Amino acid sequence: MSKNDLKAQYSKTKKQLDEVSPAFCLAKWYQVTLHLQNGHNHSCHHPNTHQTSLDELKRDPSSLHNTLFKKQIRQLMLEGVRPKECEYCWKIEDTPGDHFSDRTIKSNDEWALPFFDEALKSGSKENVNPKYLEVSFSNSCNFKCAYCLPHISSSWMKELKQHGEYKTKSKHHAYDYLEKSGKMPILDTAANPYVKAFWEWWPSLYKDLKTFRITGGEPFMVPDTYRVLDYIIDHPNKDLSLAINSNLGVEKHLIDKAVEKINRAKGNLKEMTIYTSLDTWDSQAEYIRFGLDLELFRQNLFTVLEKIPEVNVTFMCTYNLLSIARFREFLEFILDLKNKYKKSGSAFDSRIVLDISYLKDPHFMCANIATADLLERMKSDLNFMTANSPDRGDGTIGFTDFEINKMLRLYNWASQGTKSEFQQEQLKDFFIFFSEYDKRRNTQFLKTFPEYKNLWFAGQALTAEANEGT
Ligand code: SF4
Repeated sequence: MSKNDLKAQYSKTKKQLDEVSPAFCLAKWYQVTLHLQNGHNHSCHHPNTHQTSLDELKRDPSSLHNTLFKKQIRQLMLEGVRPKECEYCWKIEDTPGDHFSDRTIKSNDEWALPFFDEALKSGSKENVNPKYLEVSFSNSCNFKCAYCLPHISSSWMKELKQHGEYKTKSKHHAYDYLEKSGKMPILDTAANPYVKAFWEWWPSLYKDLKTFRITGGEPFMVPDTYRVLDYIIDHPNKDLSLAINSNLGVEKHLIDKAVEKINRAKGNLKEMTIYTSLDTWDSQAEYIRFGLDLELFRQNLFTVLEKIPEVNVTFMCTYNLLSIARFREFLEFILDLKNKYKKSGSAFDSRIVLDISYLKDPHFMCANIATADLLERMKSDLNFMTANSPDRGDGTIGFTDFEINKMLRLYNWASQGTKSEFQQEQLKDFFIFFSEYDKRRNTQFLKTFPEYKNLWFAGQALTAEANEGT
């Protein structure tokens, strides 16, 4: 669809939504992320999560999605009252100019718009099955990436229990609050009522799903993932797009098991995508994504690509401060992969996609505190991507507009920098965090990241100065 056609389509959808009310959004009915390790969910992913109470769960397993709280929000939307939790969209809608919020973009999607009348008919009180479901069965994970969180990674949780919290001003990795907010994950060894309810609901839910994405933790470490694949093998759903997020850093026998089941399930699905993560290259990537062994990652990746020719692989890059120095090598790797793994029957479409998003928290790892020399590298990487766009006319596959625009947006954001006082706070946290990280994990920041020595020493000096003042 051309840009103009898409704009016209969005205008039409917005008008249709606004005729119900200017607060009406189909994502509140049909999209949900379930964190079964603690019973939290949200619709869509922008508002904060809230928990399904065990009382609600006993009455109906679909209350994993259809909570009393969410039904109140749906009612507000029908009445034309903007729910506060959807601020993300209201900010965009109130900004002057010609643009659409996710309220329109999501509601226009194929898992939402065809069900417009159905949503109106169900109103705010009836239970509905989501069409787009993302689920985390557990926080079991063999990685503890520097920017990750304890309720997402069991390895992070273990470290914090053993060594306590990091002494940074940022409370990004704090876990005391998890208990207070009801986000403390249920251990894999304990009975989990949310997982039990999910499987009770599943046969009814499955037939209505259009997109189903399994996330974690690390899904290939969790038996429920294989149970989903077994179910698909026995119950075809040709309308369903299945996606699995994986760090591709698990033992080979788990990848072999997944590949075998996916190969049996894929014919029963519309399409299948593996999402994996990498933020930069070599020892620097291994330092950030602690637990990553790049050689094992490559072996597992090639197993997936070679043994399941129909599967597409998207690299989710959480671009952060430490991504910058060796990002070019990562881009070169992606470019080679794109050309090696073309979609069947297509000379210009690749099975490989790079999706760059920028890390927003913890602030001390964000690319917008980068020094001028690092920003120059970013700019050069952006130019490299543009020079390797599909338009260069030599018949090879390059980076798509989507991929280049993500890098451009990132560079524009990072190069704005931050206020000096804020920058100094982040540099202190940066030094405090990674000094402690090195001690706990037996790593060596300066040896791994010589390009960041100016930031390191600046953080060290600011920390010493602060300590003298106390
Ligand atoms: S209005 Fe926006 S934030 Fe709220 S559910 Fe819809 S897309 Fe999400």
